[in-house]
Amino acid sequence: MRTRWLVVGAGLSGATLAERIARGLDDPVHVVDRRDHIAGNAFDGTNEHGVMVHHYGAHIFHTGSSTVWRYLSRFTDWREYRHRVLAEVQGAQVPLPFSFDSIDCLFSPTEAELIKHELLGAYPQGTKVPILKLMESDRPRLRSLAELIYRYVFLGYTTKQWGCRPEDLDRAVSGRVPVIVGPRTEYFDDTYQGIPSEGYTAMVARMLDHPNITVSTATSFDQARGTIDFDRLVFTGPLDELLGYRYGALAYRSLSFCHRTRPGSGLQPVAVINFPNDHPYTRTLEHRHLTGQIADVSTITEEHPQDHEPGKTEPYYPVLTAGTRALHKRYLDAVATEMPGAYFAGRLADYRYYDMDQAVLRALLLYREIAGDQGAAQAAAPLASVTE
Ligand code: FAD
Ligand code: UDP
Repeated sequence: MRTRWLVVGAGLSGATLAERIARGLDDPVHVVDRRDHIAGNAFDGTNEHGVMVHHYGAHIFHTGSSTVWRYLSRFTDWREYRHRVLAEVQGAQVPLPFSFDSIDCLFSPTEAELIKHELLGAYPQGTKVPILKLMESDRPRLRSLAELIYRYVFLGYTTKQWGCRPEDLDRAVSGRVPVIVGPRTEYFDDTYQGIPSEGYTAMVARMLDHPNITVSTATSFDQARGTIDFDRLVFTGPLDELLGYRYGALAYRSLSFCHRTRPGSGLQPVAVINFPNDHPYTRTLEHRHLTGQIADVSTITEEHPQDHEPGKTEPYYPVLTAGTRALHKRYLDAVATEMPGAYFAGRLADYRYYDMDQAVLRALLLYREIAGDQGAAQAAAPLASVTE
């Protein structure tokens, strides 16, 4: 007797689990998503002006995991793309992550040399130093450099993005964009980087294209559980909502996206420009840099952070603090007791700041666990062979 699976969420986590269960276990899988599209936050497509856009902000695929890269490469080719970001600081556009090149943009040549010399006295060339760590330096020149970077690059951006100061968040959040002791680097340093050549939506559609898989968009879990017969559940949505917010709402930040299309093609020099100090939005994205599309018009998207209001806005970012982690753990313990046999994964259910590759890796690892519970041989196999 085959097990019937319900997978809630058609983002990368849900799509990976559905694909693996359908192919690996040869079980029927019904995937539902309450949005009217697949691919979750990685959803992309052509807008009314014929421009290919990332509807929920820039999505650049980057990973150090050859397993994840090879797995997704079964469903897409890749457009080579290396991400570059500039931040507007004191009227200059300085490269991020903050590096020697950024120092050159903001200081006189003599002062810049002194600062670089001092940095190299304190750290080996190439070191990545989180801003909050650099602020603890016992060298006065490095402390005042750190204070400048903190004030002009991190404070305003983080206050807009998260509604709090960098030091009030898990340090890993600002640590995602460290200060580089050396020349300019790309935004990501992973071995594998790119954009799916036909887009993320096409890639996810191929993952879900299997005779064992049925997909229903515009269908919430609440609707699905009354109408779809299933034996086992995989849930990739938020746990607080699943349990009716009984312990209070988990903190998430939301965004609104403002898209503007203009004639021309080079509206900004790189894909993303950050605005830590001006404007209500944090950053602008010119999509054509990501997609390589050549057109007479170009679309730019502003990202406006906002509070998350359950039921009204999308929960894009978990706000990670000791308190919110403890609340999430309470929800996890409750679902483990009250929904035995259900599986939970993804940026929302795990309440983790996953990049796409981490979401896929987590799903592949969970699949191995699921295969073990189902008595399938893949449970003991190395991860790389689980993805075949
Ligand atoms: P999601 O993509 O959020 O998918 C979950 C799905 O579940 C959603 O579609 C939702 O509608 C559905 N769902 C939830 N609850 C229910 C329910 N009750 N019933 C039915 N459906 C439900 N990562 C990178 O690697 N590179 C980047 O450049 C990058 N840029 C990003 C930019 C922004 C603005 C954001 C917000 C994220 C970015 N990410 C990036 C992260 C990336 O979006 C996530 O890692 C990835 O989307 C996680 O996939 P997921 O399936 O876990 O979650
Ligand atoms: N950050 C900042 N200023 C910047 C870029 C990043 O303060 O110009 C901080 C901010 O807190 C942000 C975090 O670093 O949320 C992580 O940045 P990243 O670019 O990784 O954000 P994401 O693309 O995940 O939204």
